[in-house]
Amino acid sequence: MPGSGHRILGLVELASDDSDDVRSRVTNQALHSAFCNRLNGWLRTKDEWSLLKDKRACVILKDIGSRGELELAAAKLDRVFKEPHIHLGEALPLMITAGFTELLDDASDMSTAIQQASIALSQAKQSDKLFRVYSPQKAKSMREESELLEAMQTALKLGEFQLYYQPKVHAGYRTLIGAEALIRWHRTGHGVVGPDKFIDLAERNDIIKPITWWAIKSAVSTLARWPKQLSIAVNICPRLLLENDILAVVNDALEIYGVDAARLNLEVTEKIMVDNQDIMLAQLSLLQEIGVKISIYDFGTGFSSLAYFRDLPVDEIKIDQSFVQRMLVSEVDQAIVKAVIDLAHNFSLKVVAEGVESIAIADRLSEMRCDILQGYVFDKPLPVEEFESQYHV
Ligand code: C2E
Ligand code: CA
Repeated sequence: MPGSGHRILGLVELASDDSDDVRSRVTNQALHSAFCNRLNGWLRTKDEWSLLKDKRACVILKDIGSRGELELAAAKLDRVFKEPHIHLGEALPLMITAGFTELLDDASDMSTAIQQASIALSQAKQSDKLFRVYSPQKAKSMREESELLEAMQTALKLGEFQLYYQPKVHAGYRTLIGAEALIRWHRTGHGVVGPDKFIDLAERNDIIKPITWWAIKSAVSTLARWPKQLSIAVNICPRLLLENDILAVVNDALEIYGVDAARLNLEVTEKIMVDNQDIMLAQLSLLQEIGVKISIYDFGTGFSSLAYFRDLPVDEIKIDQSFVQRMLVSEVDQAIVKAVIDLAHNFSLKVVAEGVESIAIADRLSEMRCDILQGYVFDKPLPVEEFESQYHV
């Protein structure tokens, strides 16, 4: 942060209603003048401001010498815009977002500063914050993210993604019952890249759709080659259950490859239960109605209430590996594992233990009547050819 005497350039934007009916035009006009009035109420006489667009203003704050002073200015901005604007008896909220950056003395720096403040403004909007201050590191990571997104697009075209398969075994007989499909990226020049390096970013962007659609088709085409008693689980990001494309994608894949729906398992994380979004649950129900099996994974890490179970369209619970791995050294973890198994059985759900790394844990889980085991003690996720030769499928 600069010393005293320095200037901060900010962009302040008012969220607007883009519809173009007469009513919105009138309220937008009212909002526009309220926006200008409140800006005047926020700024000191030595500051300057001008409108860049109807609802975006560029401000220059003088003598802001520290991050703390800027925080104070932002707190005042928040206060000034907090109350809604009353227009014809109606309360219109004034939702604003701001991006700030340092304005150097050089006059040619103005356009750079506007660009930087605009990056900070987008970051604030993305993270639902009142404001962000431009930081070169943040901008670098945004650039890297957009490069990674572009590389993923190319990877899809070039077929660089592959599904690896990790066996799921029957807890009692220790026979193969199916596999979880886990994505890997064979990225030119980078070797085999694990999902921890790219899937979060993909899930925050639309590219998760084509990636997941590809994964579903690829897993179903593999199922078509495998014996009928084996199933495959594919991971689905919760966001994809907010729209209804998934049902058609799954149906098409099953039809094209002539695979029984009951052999396809879709895994969603427990977070979906915390959000308990009606739309997502409705999508899961539709998928379950066509015969697809639904699993909840990471189970135990969220704060799911028992009550959710009653209405959840779910067939299988996967206990999070953190509990499984500690269960022989921690009585609390063992008790959690036992409670989840009993709870799931009371609701006629199957239970999978993930992250089983030793025979001792596998044996204890079998004694506790866990149904299915998955973990390094059996195998890591394997490329499809390796899986097929290892398990003679
Ligand atoms: P997850 O669904 O919880 O998958 C289990 C992760 O635990 C996998 O990591 C697996 O390789 C690892 N694992 C399995 N057994 C053991 C074990 O015994 N010990 C230990 N320490 N780890 C074990 P992976 O393959 O790196 O996947 C990480 C996460 O990436 C997955 O977590 C899943 O959330 C996500 N993911 C993977 N493939 C896909 C995909 O196709 N689509 C989406 N949306 N997400 C995926
Ligand atoms: Ca999973």
